[in-house]
Amino acid sequence: AKRLGGNNYFFYSTELQTITARTLKLEKDIRFAIDNQQLDIYYQPQVSLITGKISGLEALLRWNHPDFGMISPLEFIPIAENSGQILRIGGWVTRTATLQLKKWQATGIDPIKLSINLSVRELKQSQLVEKLENILTETGFEPGLLELEITESMLMEDQENIINTLNRINSLGVHLSIDDFGTGYSSLAYVKRLPVNQLKIDKSFVQDIMNDPGDAIIAQAIISLGHSLGMEVIAEGVEDTAQLDFLRSHGCDHIQGYLFSKPLPAGDIWKLLSDSETN
Ligand code: C2E
Ligand code: CA
Ligand code: CA
Ligand code: CA
Repeated sequence: AKRLGGNNYFFYSTELQTITARTLKLEKDIRFAIDNQQLDIYYQPQVSLITGKISGLEALLRWNHPDFGMISPLEFIPIAENSGQILRIGGWVTRTATLQLKKWQATGIDPIKLSINLSVRELKQSQLVEKLENILTETGFEPGLLELEITESMLMEDQENIINTLNRINSLGVHLSIDDFGTGYSSLAYVKRLPVNQLKIDKSFVQDIMNDPGDAIIAQAIISLGHSLGMEVIAEGVEDTAQLDFLRSHGCDHIQGYLFSKPLPAGDIWKLLSDSETN
């Protein structure tokens, strides 16, 4: 810690200690979060701009900590990633969410896609493909309805191994989507070699799409790049109708964002899905 002068020094170092103590506690507690039923999966709808219907759901993890309350995945995923707990948690998310969608299908809900976020440690584990295969067999979930979201930044190191893993996932019939697309530095030549079905325009571009011409150009470029490589394109973080109209008029295939719905607990999603079926 840098001495900022006067009381600031103490302020700063106290704050640092608080952050460290919290991180250490979260790192310890997350080991028991699954068994203590503290983890929950929220689902956010993805809407097709062609049919106007819900075409998929993204599973988003929530941790209800007994002392701290709801903790953002932005805080605890990196902690779980560091400690290695992400491997167990990721398996739990995939199993729980696929079972949930199977249950909804059994009540007569039309089958829709399930998107699951993969972290870099999961992508690099040697048994990832076997684990996925086991979950698909156990749950009977249709592989073609499962889509794994990997971020552009995860693709940077160890490219040959990653391509090999992605090809094996693709052979299972499971789809792949590149999340946060446009925020990293992957070359077009590299992206073209990947068995990827979808690009997801990062919400940082969508947020300013109406005010920042640069962001609008990037979004348009991602849509035409995706389409010319035979991929679908989805935009995340769509919050208003101006953004929606822009994306629709430029041929974006799907949208996701607060405009349509926030991520919701399973019970609320079931209501949304059953209502939209009868309409
Ligand atoms: P992400 O994959 O980029 O997910 C999108 C984030 O944007 C979610 O935050 C979602 O709630 C939020 N969002 C959705 N619509 C809007 C909108 O219209 N406006 C704004 N401002 N935000 C919107 P969330 O749920 O807090 O998740 C944060 C990140 O945590 C995710 O970013 C993902 O990287 C990670 N994450 C969440 N669940 C999992 C999981 O099961 N496994 C792994 N490995 N990572 C996860
Ligand atoms: Ca995602
Ligand atoms: Ca994203
Ligand atoms: Ca993001």
